[in-house]
Amino acid sequence: EAKAKGRNTFHFYSQELDAAANERLYIENELRQAIKSKQFSLYYQPQVDCKTLKIVGYEALIRWKHPDKGMIPPTKFIPIAEATGLIVELGAWVLEEACMFSMRLQRQGRSGNMSINLSARQFKDAHLIAEISDVLERTQMPPSLLHVELTESMLMGDVEAAIAQLHQMKDLGIGLSIDDFGTGYSSLSYLKRFPVDSLKVDRSFVKDIPDDSNDMEITAAIIAMAQKLKLQVVAEGVETKEQVAFLKRNNCFIVQGYYYSPPLPEHEIEIFRSQLQDKAGI
Ligand code: C2E
Ligand code: MG
Ligand code: MG
Ligand code: MG
Repeated sequence: EAKAKGRNTFHFYSQELDAAANERLYIENELRQAIKSKQFSLYYQPQVDCKTLKIVGYEALIRWKHPDKGMIPPTKFIPIAEATGLIVELGAWVLEEACMFSMRLQRQGRSGNMSINLSARQFKDAHLIAEISDVLERTQMPPSLLHVELTESMLMGDVEAAIAQLHQMKDLGIGLSIDDFGTGYSSLSYLKRFPVDSLKVDRSFVKDIPDDSNDMEITAAIIAMAQKLKLQVVAEGVETKEQVAFLKRNNCFIVQGYYYSPPLPEHEIEIFRSQLQDKAGI
């Protein structure tokens, strides 16, 4: 009996593994096709100064609309693109597309930075610096408008190599930001050695404000620390007016989240901007 049960369990387990492996394989194959047939687009989530209600920046977030499966979320395909190396090609496309949109905004007289997410593989890529510098030149984008988001885990490991790479990026004149701050394993002693400009407080700390007093303490502490280190701080995943009020009271004024806006396709940005102006009474 025990043996039969064991066999069944094993059988069941391996079927589940097969399903997961099959899904990975499916996504991997479809990704190659998707790059060729242009199934990707970028959405842009506004970052709002909650004091002035002005848009101070945008985060570019990739979207994949599969012809049969519909929207496939980045959390599902980015890790596979990363593991297969396809992220290098995809990431290059994201960079160029985001810079071109940013320049269209500039030409319309709109201010604001453009943040893109970098994956670990791109960060380690020897061609990254040349690639960014080429795109800036091709698009004529002022380097300071481009912000690159990295995660703590990408910076740990070979810390010296990471610091050297960060300095090369800074030398291009672009902004650097640590994404999902507080969720990785970075050490505070390294933080001051990383030449970064801003921190993004992870959504996991923000989401239970004002119900969870520990999260409120942690968020307030991250903001205070960022200020002491002269880093900008952006709060992510802000969904309620209570959260905005808390952040304001604690001197964090740049807010990104559904409270103001979800990520939007390019053609909805101008509509959002004018609605925000109406609210601000401009
Ligand atoms: P992230 O960089 O931390 O991006 C923030 C995520 O939170 C986005 O999810 C965004 O849609 C979502 N979000 C924003 N505001 C709220 C809110 O108020 N509530 C909730 N519940 N969620 C909110 P998304 O677009 O699904 O992206 C997930 C992750 O995928 C990103 O996390 C980033 O790590 C990765 N990613 C997205 N686009 C790219 C890309 O172009 N390149 C790379 N390498 N990674 C990307
Ligand atoms: Mg990000
Ligand atoms: Mg983020
Ligand atoms: Mg994040």
